[in-house]
Amino acid sequence: MTDIRVTLTAKLAELDEEMAAMAKKPTEQGSIAFGKRIGEGTSMAVDRLAQVAVHDQYQVTRADVVRALEKLDEDTYGSCDVCGRPIAEGRLEALPWAVLCVEDAARS
Ligand SMILES: [Zn+2]
Repeated sequence: MTDIRVTLTAKLAELDEEMAAMAKKPTEQGSIAFGKRIGEGTSMAVDRLAQVAVHDQYQVTRADVVRALEKLDEDTYGSCDVCGRPIAEGRLEALPWAVLCVEDAARS
């Protein structure tokens, strides 16, 4: 179980770093936005949308990582938060911060 905690803690740090890096970007983009042609502005807006989507995904993953760490403390790690059944081993190997079984994850 110690290895999982290390993995989860490292993932949490990684996500925080990525999101902190992203948070800096809008001001840089804002300052170079002057004098841009419309086409470039549009593609920049699309980039920004994609970035927001990635950021949202990071936040969702981060919440799962935090929850998985809580579950380690509660000794419920590896069981589904919705139905309480064990999460498949293969799923936990691929996604160590999975807190839902495949069925409940597909539903949410
Ligand atoms: Zn479940």
